[in-house]
Amino acid sequence: MSEPRLHNVVVIGSGPAGLTAAIYAARANLKPYVIEGFNAGGLIPGGQLMFTSDVENYPGFAKAVSGQDLMGAFRAQAEHQGAELTIGDVQKVDLSSRPFKIWVGEDENVLHLAKTLIIATGARANYIGLPSEDLLKNKGVSACAVCDGALFRGQDVAVVGGGDTAMEEASYLAGLCGNVTLIHRRDDFRASRTMVDRVRKNPKIKLLLSHVVDEVLDPAQDKVTAIRVRDLKNDKLATLPIGALFVAIGHTPMTDLFKGQLATHPNGYLKVEPGSARTSIPGVFAAGDVADWTYRQAVTAAGTGCMAALDAERFLQAEH
Ligand code: NAP
Repeated sequence: MSEPRLHNVVVIGSGPAGLTAAIYAARANLKPYVIEGFNAGGLIPGGQLMFTSDVENYPGFAKAVSGQDLMGAFRAQAEHQGAELTIGDVQKVDLSSRPFKIWVGEDENVLHLAKTLIIATGARANYIGLPSEDLLKNKGVSACAVCDGALFRGQDVAVVGGGDTAMEEASYLAGLCGNVTLIHRRDDFRASRTMVDRVRKNPKIKLLLSHVVDEVLDPAQDKVTAIRVRDLKNDKLATLPIGALFVAIGHTPMTDLFKGQLATHPNGYLKVEPGSARTSIPGVFAAGDVADWTYRQAVTAAGTGCMAALDAERFLQAEH
């Protein structure tokens, strides 16, 4: 078996955070090695944006750019600057001593060593789990109002969830779309009082409490035309015509690989020192949604990716 390769910087993840980190690390001549992922957590190389049709809020694009084109451009830029990219899932990491050990491939068959590690594995949106919901993802079922809301301008839409994200999404959509129905499985909201009050005061938002979504219609038409909702108090079903369903029932950070090794917040997101990308282990940095449950935008992920690469560069410089 050949000797494992030793890298200055290994980046795990290929969304805006990982690829921006790669661009900056490559420009600092650190020859970063980027493990793009293959099917980790249901995501594909490029991350969550690969599932977004039109991106209208990434600075620098006057006209909408598709998520795939945007990530293709990030990737091309990283390669052009000298990053080495490989497709594959990381199976295991050992961060107990340096260089850090990273096993890649289905059978943990390739070991890589890293002087510094940038974790940009992202987060995935939680979905209700209905087969019809799955069939209509990106065809009217979305987990990001800021990304996809404008595609349904003027149409009636629904949001499911009772946390701050659901409140924020409902308020945002009310400014763009027709009427918004906010569906929550309980009578009490988990969201903060202020955000609930804002929603309650908005005449365009109707609350449907103690209800769940039973079915998304209509996979046969390949678009969302309505949802069937169930009243949990009497089991009655009703159909609600809408153009889009926004699912806002939380995200799950992709941190399984690092459990027990890196400090996390109680909600599972990686802890970084405020104002930096430094995690609880010196030499390990985190960027993007894996450490951010508040902003979760491509541009903020790219920003923290840049921070992680600069932190890694400074860490390596300080060692020499
Ligand atoms: P969250 O607080 O975990 O809320 C998720 C909501 O989805 C809950 O109301 C939950 O219902 C519901 N839910 C979960 N699984 C469900 C299912 N299978 N079917 C139907 N409903 C389901 O998630 P979040 O709203 O994304 O917020 C995450 C964190 O980000 C929170 O700490 C939040 O405060 C923060 N955040 C802050 C801001 C802000 O300050 N501007 C904005 C967005 C998010 P139950 O309540 O019944 O469990």
